[in-house]
Amino acid sequence: MKFHVPVGQFVRLKASIKGETVVREYTPAVSIVDSNKEHLKLMIKIYPEGKMTQYLSTIQTGDPLLISEPAGSFCTDLVNSTKELVLIAAGTVYSSWRV
Ligand SMILES: Cc1cc2nc3c(=O)[nH]c(=O)nc-3n(C[C@H](O)[C@H](O)[C@H](O)COP(=O)(O)OP(=O)(O)OC[C@H]3O[C@@H](n4cnc5c(N)ncnc54)[C@H](O)[C@@H]3O)c2cc1C
Repeated sequence: MKFHVPVGQFVRLKASIKGETVVREYTPAVSIVDSNKEHLKLMIKIYPEGKMTQYLSTIQTGDPLLISEPAGSFCTDLVNSTKELVLIAAGTVYSSWRV
């Protein structure tokens, strides 16, 4: 399977956890110069009481996980057509630094 998530976009992970459908967004942590699109690399902070992240911390290699198509409206073409760029960072942000 090939993954290509354009810079600025994210994917949604979906899981059924204790009978509840839980959906959370994650931004791929892959470098723009990383040409290996065989894998989708996510860097995820595990919250002690987080529904999705606690679930993710228990799954094993080979367990199924639903992943959406790329989503989000930010596109790097917007950056090419502007002269000034203001960056606002929140959270750990590392996964967003792919531009
Ligand atoms: C566009 C986008 C991209 C993202 N990319 C990433 C990424 O690359 N990496 C990443 O790690 N995260 C990312 N996130 C955040 C991610 O989507 C989840 O929000 C995160 O993983 C927490 O999900 P969770 O289900 O484990 O936690 P949740 O169950 O949603 O809980 C989050 C925190 O709130 C606390 N909490 C929950 N309910 C309550 C309550 N009632 N009262 C008090 N506290 C409460 C929990 O204990 C936990 O600490 C992104 C979010 C967006 C919108």
